[in-house]
Amino acid sequence: MTTLVEPEEHKALRGAVAALGRRYGRDYATRVAAEGTWPSELWLEAAKLGYLGVNLPQEYGGGGGGITELSLVLEELGAAGCPLLMMIVSPAICGTVIARFGTEEQKRRWLPGLADGTRLMAFGITEPDAGSNSHRITTTARRDGTDWLLTGRKVFVSGVDIADATLIVGRTADARTGRLKPCLFIVPRDARGFTRRRIDMELHAAEKQFELTLDDVRLPAEALVGDEDAGLLQLFAGLNPERIMTAAFAIGMGRHALSRAVRYARERTVWNTPIGAHQAIAHPLAQAHIDLELARLMMQKAAHLYDAGDDAGAGEAANMAKYAAGEACVRAVDQAVHTLGGNGLTREFGLASLVTAARVARIAPVSREMILNYVSHQTLGLPKSY
Ligand SMILES: Cc1cc2nc3c(=O)[nH]c(=O)nc-3n(C[C@H](O)[C@H](O)[C@H](O)COP(=O)(O)OP(=O)(O)OC[C@H]3O[C@@H](n4cnc5c(N)ncnc54)[C@H](O)[C@@H]3O)c2cc1C
Repeated sequence: MTTLVEPEEHKALRGAVAALGRRYGRDYATRVAAEGTWPSELWLEAAKLGYLGVNLPQEYGGGGGGITELSLVLEELGAAGCPLLMMIVSPAICGTVIARFGTEEQKRRWLPGLADGTRLMAFGITEPDAGSNSHRITTTARRDGTDWLLTGRKVFVSGVDIADATLIVGRTADARTGRLKPCLFIVPRDARGFTRRRIDMELHAAEKQFELTLDDVRLPAEALVGDEDAGLLQLFAGLNPERIMTAAFAIGMGRHALSRAVRYARERTVWNTPIGAHQAIAHPLAQAHIDLELARLMMQKAAHLYDAGDDAGAGEAANMAKYAAGEACVRAVDQAVHTLGGNGLTREFGLASLVTAARVARIAPVSREMILNYVSHQTLGLPKSY
């Protein structure tokens, strides 16, 4: 029932984050993106207030909550027009994986900084020749004495320039079977042989994407996160929060676009009533609101399952939530732009840039089609085409 009725402390958290978001707002996010910097003031203030580490364990400086609370924070910042994309990566994926599977030394080294915002981690899984098929990734680690040598390529990795390290998904050869198994490595930004090239994206966002080359990057034994034999389990522990958080990102952005459109539709009059009185304008906005609310319900269900320790149940719900939120966001933004007519495409109203931004939630971290494949195969038991 907690999924359906938001507890008082979550309402209070929602209200407090929304107030912080309003102080920064869309203008701040737009200015930071135009300057080519990133929203460090908002990041640090949100962290200081305990919002960014809300999901991390208390003994390492976190709030002791879960993905439920963290997703709520991201949604509210997005609704205020200033989402922090790196929340999906740093506290949600990397923080969760280290908190659940890291060694004591890794937890002490990383979690307090991820929680108080002074340290940041990126996450790299996507490869140019593997794309949606992460079984095909070829970034490989081989042993050299007690060290590891990591070689491979990654693409579209967000925030590598501002991150102290990147959690890289690679593979190691199983000593017994010779087969490659997934594993995760913490690669410091300045590691030798670790180079990045910025990808020129048509996105008006502060966070930048990079192509990465790892050329025999030498890493100490302690760069491997957790257990060499539990790589897949550890990876999925991070991917479910990533999907839930992407849903929060999408719902926040959709809410932001919708609220601007509703405000405009109430005021703009070109005949004798505000345009919002015409059902051709009102109904699609109402539909967008319903879609966003439904997506949020699924997101909350996924977050509750995840926080309750049901990784398998959370997997299906997180995929569905990401799908529903991505689609709801794309439609809300599209309708918002249309509602503003010509103003929908001006810089002043700030909606046109959301058209490309909204598409990110449809493509990443797992595309719409791959979620439909997942539901077809895993939930419905239909055969595979690939
Ligand atoms: C802004 C942004 C930020 C990102 N940040 C990160 C990050 O921080 N770290 C990271 O690792 N990655 C990141 N990514 C990468 C993202 O996760 C990938 O783009 C995504 O997984 C899709 O992979 P791809 O681009 O290679 O597309 P492809 O796999 O080439 O797919 C192309 C199209 O084909 C479709 N398709 C592929 N296979 C099938 C199939 N079997 N059935 C039906 N359709 C199919 C897909 O749905 C898609 O529409 C980011 C991407 C973007 C755009």
